[in-house]
Amino acid sequence: MFESLSDRLGGVFDRLRGRGALTEADVRTAMREVRVALLEADVALPVARDFVERATERAIGQDVLRSVTPGQQVVKIVHDTLVETLGADESALTLDVTPPAIVMMVGLQGSGKTTTTAKIAKRLKGREGKKILMASLDVNRPAAQEQLATLGVQTEVATLPIVPGQQPVDIARRALQAAKLQGFDVLMLDTAGRLHVDQALMDEMKAVAEVARPQEILLVVDSLTGQDAVNVARNFSDQVPLTGVVLTRMDGDARGGAALSMRAVTGKPIKFAGTGEKLDALEAFHPERVAGRILG
Ligand code: GDP
Repeated sequence: MFESLSDRLGGVFDRLRGRGALTEADVRTAMREVRVALLEADVALPVARDFVERATERAIGQDVLRSVTPGQQVVKIVHDTLVETLGADESALTLDVTPPAIVMMVGLQGSGKTTTTAKIAKRLKGREGKKILMASLDVNRPAAQEQLATLGVQTEVATLPIVPGQQPVDIARRALQAAKLQGFDVLMLDTAGRLHVDQALMDEMKAVAEVARPQEILLVVDSLTGQDAVNVARNFSDQVPLTGVVLTRMDGDARGGAALSMRAVTGKPIKFAGTGEKLDALEAFHPERVAGRILG
């Protein structure tokens, strides 16, 4: 992931370092190149523009140009601006409540929502020893509930028994009751996806959120859809009180634009990155580390 952005930025920085002393014009030229690199990586235009503005201001506003290693300083400023753009804060889930903590997963069909539900459950169980119950509220897509049940068997995580014909809000109520009665630490609700954002989807999610009162509402988006991922995230975050984003298919995303735009557009942290089809292919999203990876 981020290979093409890394390459482009690497080239810009090599030229910068090669110069020794820097003028304001050198910095502005380099920042224009950074802007092009961001746009080519599919970063949303306003995000790229704002990024370059902030970084330029810092680079020419401080004593950077008079320092011994101005090129190095500019690279550091770009690094810090990247971390800031990716969201410098904590990515941990807020599960520190009287059990069961409730995590609601939302997103479009095919984004990787069901797989990610199982990945997060597996992680919480393995790393934190949590007792997890997963429930699928997806009554639209054929076999969606069975898919989650199968993932439950694979990950050895309990799933709510399927009651054919039951509607999402009622499933949520039943899941909540089961989680309370059976002493689960975390209840994960995998809601239905749609092919596109539509009002019926939003209304259903709001109804489920009202009943379940989740601590976390995580939006799952496919990073490979680039600018579209950003639009989807904006639509969801306008309508549902998201607490975070999970970007899937980061393993196939050489550009990384969605990751860079997501925080600025939704105002919510990226909490995890999906990095493969396997159920342990999930990474906590650390902006510092990701920025380091981008800058190579
Ligand atoms: P849903 O419709 O949103 O519930 O999507 P699914 O969870 O069924 O996932 C759709 C497909 O994407 C499945 O084949 C998953 O294995 C695959 N998938 C999910 N997350 C990732 C990921 O991070 N990387 C890759 N390469 N594939 C993924």
